[in-house]
Amino acid sequence: MAVLITKPKGTADVLPAQSGRLRFLESRLQTEAALFGFQEIRTPVFEHTELFRRGVGETTDVVQKEMYTFEDNGRRSVTLRPEGTAGCARAFLEHGLFNEPLPQKYYYFTSCYRYEKPQAGRLREFHQFGVEAFGSASPAQDAEVISLANHVFDLFGVKDLRLEINSIGCPKCRRDFQSALRTYFEGYKDQLCETCLSRLERNPMRILDCKSPVCSEIAKGAPKVLDYLCEECETHFTQLKQYLDALELPYTVNPTIVRGLDYYTRTVFEFVSDSIGAQGTVCGGGRYDGLIAELGGADCPACGFGMGMERLQLLLEAQGIALPEPERPELYIAPASPALASAALKLADRLRAEGFRTLTDVSGRSLKAQMKYANKLRALFTTVLGEDEIAAGKAKLKNMDTGETCETALAELPDVLMRLLAADAAAPGGTAADPLKKLVLLNGGK
Ligand code: ATP
Ligand code: MG
Repeated sequence: MAVLITKPKGTADVLPAQSGRLRFLESRLQTEAALFGFQEIRTPVFEHTELFRRGVGETTDVVQKEMYTFEDNGRRSVTLRPEGTAGCARAFLEHGLFNEPLPQKYYYFTSCYRYEKPQAGRLREFHQFGVEAFGSASPAQDAEVISLANHVFDLFGVKDLRLEINSIGCPKCRRDFQSALRTYFEGYKDQLCETCLSRLERNPMRILDCKSPVCSEIAKGAPKVLDYLCEECETHFTQLKQYLDALELPYTVNPTIVRGLDYYTRTVFEFVSDSIGAQGTVCGGGRYDGLIAELGGADCPACGFGMGMERLQLLLEAQGIALPEPERPELYIAPASPALASAALKLADRLRAEGFRTLTDVSGRSLKAQMKYANKLRALFTTVLGEDEIAAGKAKLKNMDTGETCETALAELPDVLMRLLAADAAAPGGTAADPLKKLVLLNGGK
């Protein structure tokens, strides 16, 4: 027997039973992004490795340990994107989008690749909903980006989510902070992990982000970045807090957040939940004013976030927040005998052209087997197409939920079906209801 080939470790398949819900989720996020003036951008799955080395940073875990990097047949080193911001910034620069009216605001759904130890909420191929805003240095932009993420969680009625914010300053104030950190961690040289020892020289701030229990315990006593902010960074942070207050968006200041990517400056933030175990950060982001210049462009302030789609789904599940099921077929046309298969196909074709989700027999099954199939697929209406119906130019529509039937001329079938579906949708909890109304109904109404 052939060996069954399974999916690679740390990847996941989205089967049809789930994909409808995921699509719904994505379409809601897309709508929210549009409400805030963000437009979709799509960039390649792989980029020149150099982009991430420079953009994400040599001393980060992502670049040091997690990237899927390989040489292609042309001997170029390429890397599957571990995150979405660097590619987006590259495209912004490469296409001269800085010449467009600023700020330019983009969103994306993207797959990301990181060689990590797979566990709940941590995969090797995962997906992000990300937004990036290029061109504004004002903390109002940070607040707008944070507010967008918050709208998403509100829309689905997510509870018990903390917004934690911090400022990690600019390169100017960070110099003093880094040297204070170096002095502090020097005292623990014999206890720090291998990786952190190398970070001590090159980028001691990264030690604050180490996941090893020993290092994170030592990190608790380390100097706090907020004590080292320069006046401009301090003002920026104060104003951000004022904007969040104005938006009535509760937050806590967590001075230990530094984020795992080197491009961040000033604002960093996370939305954290205790409902989904150790991998509780559902959304992480911040400001990255230095990235565009790092990639060879002129200075351009920017900020954004990445929201983990798998973690978002875990969160919705954990909190019992249901998403609408995939849309049901609206009509199943059952040919009474195999000889009528082509008449049924033709009728189905006509209804599809009119926009109805229509199924018919493509397996030569008996009428009884067809009805069983239509039932399993939860078709809303069925009609049996026999010699008599064709001769009389009539059809009998059966509502599969109520068992009620209704006769119509074949020529008027689309109109009648439209009316019946509309009546069905208007009924409480109606099957064809507007998806957003359905979301509210599913979750107890608001
Ligand atoms: P963590 O601290 O959990 O490793 P991170 O700081 O590396 O997260 P970011 O690079 O900021 O994460 O990515 C943004 C979001 O993407 C995270 O908040 C999380 O929701 C999601 N994410 C990151 N890595 C993974 C992964 N390996 N599997 C699933 N989701 C992930
Ligand atoms: Mg990580």
